[in-house]
Amino acid sequence: MKITPFIHYMRKLALHWKIVIGMVLGVLLGFTLLQFESGPQFVKNWIEPIGRVFVRMLKLIAVPLIVASLIKGISDLKDISKFKSMGVKTIVTYVLTTVVAISIGLAIVNVFKPGEGVSQDTIYHLKETYASSSVIQKKISEAENQKNSGPLQFIVDMVPDNAFKAMSNNRMMLQVIFFTICLGLSMLLIPEKEAKPLKDFFDSLNSVVLKMVDLIMLFAPIAVLSLLTTVIVNTNDGGILLALLRYAGVVVLGLILMIVVYLILVSVYTKKSPIWFLKQISPAQLLAFSTSSSAATLPVTMERVEEHIGVDKEVSSFVLPVGATINMDGTSLYQAVAAVFIMQVLWPEGLGFTNQLIIILTALLASIGSAAVPGAGMVMLVIVLDAIGFPKEMLPIGLALIFAVDRPLDMLRTTVNVTGDACVSMVIAKSEGKLGEPKVKNWDDHYKNEDVNQ
Ligand code: ASP
Repeated sequence: MKITPFIHYMRKLALHWKIVIGMVLGVLLGFTLLQFESGPQFVKNWIEPIGRVFVRMLKLIAVPLIVASLIKGISDLKDISKFKSMGVKTIVTYVLTTVVAISIGLAIVNVFKPGEGVSQDTIYHLKETYASSSVIQKKISEAENQKNSGPLQFIVDMVPDNAFKAMSNNRMMLQVIFFTICLGLSMLLIPEKEAKPLKDFFDSLNSVVLKMVDLIMLFAPIAVLSLLTTVIVNTNDGGILLALLRYAGVVVLGLILMIVVYLILVSVYTKKSPIWFLKQISPAQLLAFSTSSSAATLPVTMERVEEHIGVDKEVSSFVLPVGATINMDGTSLYQAVAAVFIMQVLWPEGLGFTNQLIIILTALLASIGSAAVPGAGMVMLVIVLDAIGFPKEMLPIGLALIFAVDRPLDMLRTTVNVTGDACVSMVIAKSEGKLGEPKVKNWDDHYKNEDVNQ
């Protein structure tokens, strides 16, 4: 009998607390299973799939959600010029926050000089362990492919030649956004009566997909347990992690400072409480941390920002999907710190003022070009290093230096990326007079079952 109040209490607990409990249990389970020889195999067979199913479900609804919500957002605008002004404002704000992030990264890496704390022994050990690893080689060749394209290639890449093909690939988010904007704007240009059936269809699809987010999030606590157990079991070289503590500490400090910048923006510009903002957005942050993917987190970010913060769909439907693809403040900050750290260790003569300026520019472009998936930031780091003339033969050693701590830092920078998108969407909404009151919808609002409604 005693169990009933406990279940009742757990049901009433706020979502972010349930997720935090899942994360803590996941870490504990991970360390416990590491004590058994068959632990990692057990995790691979029985625990990892749960997290993967969850991430797949989130990705499954990303494209329908972007399409439905962007069309609803644009067709509610009634006026094309509003879209233009919002678009320009959004891009400019994203670029500004990214430049702030890179500058913070450069400032603290130059002040704390984490590269000076790395011993020759550590360099040797890291080189032996990782420099020839296939993952590092793959990242270098991926960067090579990206680099070989011309300066306007990114515009060509943004335009799909087949709408359905674009929608069938989550990595083509910008193509999907491009097509949807064309569709939405064209709907504004035909008589309202003719556009109505299509608009009604997408309005309805939008509500249904948002409800799916609520349903999927019911599994979030179990899923993060699985995701974190998997991360712990796969990261087992504690000694190396310690050797890189100073570098990792500098990245973490930078990321914390960036969060402070967002909180100041929220408080000063939108006049909302920063603590309230953090509380509302926290489930999306915790998911970003657990999945290391802004793209997978996007549906949850959209739901939180619209329903729990009160940003109008006209704003969030454009600002958030675009942000998930091009605004990566955490990633760009990390790229600046990592590039300078690698230079401090392997190529101190390259550390001039001009190179630091080049880092600002390339890290900005690189974070725009980074895919919103785990580990993408490291691929673009290669391009940043290349731009400053970092010796090619030392590249694998450079990446080997930071590889061991990349996953935990990826988790943290993704959290900052998602927080940045949410913060900018509030700022843009405020400037457009579209920041209203939250309208929270629960998954069972219309589900008439005594059992779950009591
Ligand atoms: N994982 C990051 C994201 O999805 C990108 C990166 O920094 O690797 O936002």
